[in-house]
Amino acid sequence: MKALRPIEIVGGGLAGLSLGLALRRGGVPVRLFEAGGYPRHRVCGEFITGLSSGTIARLELEPFLRDALLHRDVAWFIAGRETCRQRLPQPARALSRHLLDARLAHAFVAAGGELLTQTRVPIEPGVEGRIDTTGRRRSPSEWLGLKIHAHGLPLRCDLELHLGDEAYVGLSRVEDDRMNICGLFRQREIRARGPALLLAYLRAANLAGLADRLDGADFDGASFTAVAAVNFDQRVGPAVGVALGDACAMIPPFTGNGMAMAFQSAELALDPLLAYARAELGWPAVCRATQAALQQRFRRRLAAADVLHSFLLKPARQRWLTRLAGVHLLPLNPLYSVLH
Ligand SMILES: Cc1cc2nc3c(=O)[nH]c(=O)nc-3n(C[C@H](O)[C@H](O)[C@H](O)COP(=O)(O)OP(=O)(O)OC[C@H]3O[C@@H](n4cnc5c(N)ncnc54)[C@H](O)[C@@H]3O)c2cc1C
Repeated sequence: MKALRPIEIVGGGLAGLSLGLALRRGGVPVRLFEAGGYPRHRVCGEFITGLSSGTIARLELEPFLRDALLHRDVAWFIAGRETCRQRLPQPARALSRHLLDARLAHAFVAAGGELLTQTRVPIEPGVEGRIDTTGRRRSPSEWLGLKIHAHGLPLRCDLELHLGDEAYVGLSRVEDDRMNICGLFRQREIRARGPALLLAYLRAANLAGLADRLDGADFDGASFTAVAAVNFDQRVGPAVGVALGDACAMIPPFTGNGMAMAFQSAELALDPLLAYARAELGWPAVCRATQAALQQRFRRRLAAADVLHSFLLKPARQRWLTRLAGVHLLPLNPLYSVLH
């Protein structure tokens, strides 16, 4: 049998690992470069909405998600008060990135993939056979993401979403009775570290009630992570090469859909890449086919999420949301219906 062409993947998050694993299952030689290692905590709300059974089956993800908690209800809090409750059309799956990424990395190596951790390589979009799954595009930004786990805290709903002044924070349960607390904040001059930094940001964002509730919680200090340079590119791009997951486009975090998009983009690239490995398709054709599929699949949801996102961060606009919620017109169900 003719040898298959090799593929290189730069970035071992969900897009890179799930793609690498699926290619290995097709017998393709895959080398994956990851700047960090496993397991590792990541800034992430750790709940996945809009992941269809079709994507789970195509990428054979079920073993990795088997013990994910299923969350159905979301409570929205504006100015500290519960404003509306919503039932998701399909349960969200909740699992820590600490567990999920490590499971995928382990399976990729077990399937014969070559994984080079602690290896950062330059991103050169034009290189034939090389995929960019390096995550969000780095550019200056006023936004900061913070995340930490706490043990044994009660929740008021499966998922709580708290809107503050230029901030929002999600609370959800993951495995081992851990509560994941993850927020997006406009950066401020605050000098603190770990849980103290999170609590200070909550208070600065007029979320003092939530800060009081979390103050004194049994935090897992090792799970604290922070990420700056969070930008929301509501466009699929770039047109050169193959870029998947956040490297292709980043949907606002409140949707809980970025992880599903990482898997879905790997799914969309899989057939063109298998055809390339078998020398049935040239590299430019792979890039064009993948780009077109990504555009078609993600365009509507990115636009819809962008509209609602602009209402979440400013108190004046949040008051509109409160009014719409009061007359049951909050456009959440239409949004969730385009996330698949
Ligand atoms: C505050 C916040 C909350 C979020 N909450 C949720 C949520 O609740 N649900 C949800 O679905 N999504 C959420 N997301 C989004 C989600 O985390 C991402 O969409 C998802 O991680 C994208 O996966 P990825 O594989 O594209 O990128 P990543 O998971 O970011 O992986 C990229 C990998 O590439 C590596 N890398 C980068 N550069 C290089 C290089 N040059 N060489 C080698 N390796 C490199 C990095 O180390 C990293 O491991 C949130 C995001 C933020 C910022």
